[in-house]
Amino acid sequence: MTSKFSLTCKALLDNAVPRIAGDTPRLDAELLLAHVSGLSRSAFRAFPEREVDARVAAEFEMLVAKRARGMPIAYLLGHQEFWSLPLEVRTSTLIPRPDTECLVEQALELPLSGDARVVDLGTGTGAIALALASERPGWVVSACDLMEDAVTLTRTNARQLNLPVEVFQSHWFAGLPAATYDLIVSNPPYIATDDHHLDEGDVRFEPATALVSGVDGLDDIRLIVSEAPAWLNEGGWLLLEHGFDQAGAVQALFVNRGFVKVESRKDYGGNDRMTLGQWPRDGARHAQ
Ligand code: GLN
Repeated sequence: MTSKFSLTCKALLDNAVPRIAGDTPRLDAELLLAHVSGLSRSAFRAFPEREVDARVAAEFEMLVAKRARGMPIAYLLGHQEFWSLPLEVRTSTLIPRPDTECLVEQALELPLSGDARVVDLGTGTGAIALALASERPGWVVSACDLMEDAVTLTRTNARQLNLPVEVFQSHWFAGLPAATYDLIVSNPPYIATDDHHLDEGDVRFEPATALVSGVDGLDDIRLIVSEAPAWLNEGGWLLLEHGFDQAGAVQALFVNRGFVKVESRKDYGGNDRMTLGQWPRDGARHAQ
């Protein structure tokens, strides 16, 4: 990296692109160069011969090498957009998925009051809770996560976005302060332990605690469905993301626990990706 030529944006990008796997190698390379150089992508498209200094080039090379080994672009950039909100991400949390925006859309469609109390379980970056708080300023939105890192990250994201989400460190309901909610929402881990997808693509770099949940992937969902009624107001809703082939099993868990109006909804890819149900108004006596 000593010749002058090698430090032009064009040379750096052309050299990086063939080494990057995945569907969007040029976009990835451009995002990484923009990240380390502070230049916009349009700047080095308009002026490909523009030079960057050796320190920037070295930093770029380091990130390209990590990307070439499969590290997700969101972890390398340190941020990911969700629901048009710029979120900081870290390797200790799941990278928010576009499909989880369907869960947010569904939550916003529920017949809830303007001052509803909502909790997002296993919030990770805070994505769901922050999206809901941004759309419904009157809602009292809280979030929890088992991992201290995720709690810190969600608080950081909430502060940066100036959104009032209270965050607790809690394993599902276990560490929440005594309260009841009008909506409990979660994107819990739901992948089966031996699922081969875990060996492919971005998920290889994501924390297993955020992805994997027992032999059928349903351990955490079973626990949440079982305990949710004790934390729901009468008429309150439970809304969970799950695997593309789990809708039948999750609906059965909801119905057996006493939820009504149990239905599943699709993600952007047309898969049944979430299930919701209402805790009936006369259900309180069955809650414990
Ligand atoms: N939908 C994610 C995936 O398949 C998994 C997210 C999760 O386990 N909550 O990669």
